[in-house]
Amino acid sequence: MSVSELVFATHNAHKLQEIHELLPARYKVLSLTDLAFHDDIEETGATIEENSHLKSATIYQKFGKPCFADDSGLEVAALHGAPGVYSARYAGPKKDDRANWMKLLDEMKGLSQGERRAQFKSVITLFLSEDDVVQFEGIIKGQIVRAPRGDKGFGYDPVFTPEGHDRTFAEMDAWEKNKISHRAVAVDKLVTYLSSL
Ligand code: IMP
Repeated sequence: MSVSELVFATHNAHKLQEIHELLPARYKVLSLTDLAFHDDIEETGATIEENSHLKSATIYQKFGKPCFADDSGLEVAALHGAPGVYSARYAGPKKDDRANWMKLLDEMKGLSQGERRAQFKSVITLFLSEDDVVQFEGIIKGQIVRAPRGDKGFGYDPVFTPEGHDRTFAEMDAWEKNKISHRAVAVDKLVTYLSSL
């Protein structure tokens, strides 16, 4: 079975843009806006894996088209994995990126360089049918800086430097972030899977 058209189950315009840049042009990506689906998909899962599954299942069951969702988050070891599954709503239900990273920097104020290790994780869930559901994980390790730098990207990008780099994700052009990001790693696995069908 070859798949060339997929629904991407997100309302996040930044994620949609990244997916357009990451997926080879032979795949046509339909957004929730293309499907005129504007409802919020409630993220009631306790883990990134559960929420990824939930989002993809919701849209697959509604439209019956091949569909994938990304749930992602930032995990800080010294904060026992927080903000983790709550990354988008860390500073409250408004999902305010700036408020989120400000809260994070505040909570990490006293932490030494060695305690500033963090990772971004992306879990993509692909629904091809009710019985053909697969997850793909991508992780990028790095550090949380002490003050924000850069104005590109979204979310926690201004406070995260990937391992082996001095610049934050928000100081990188999209193509640079897209070569190494957690989402790029997960999308790579997704494409390998789709190509094997
Ligand atoms: P989700 O839409 O529930 O998966 O929320 C993901 C949240 O994790 C986003 O709102 C961001 O706060 C954070 N996040 C995920 N991926 C990235 C990224 O690539 N850069 C910065 N923040 C990210």
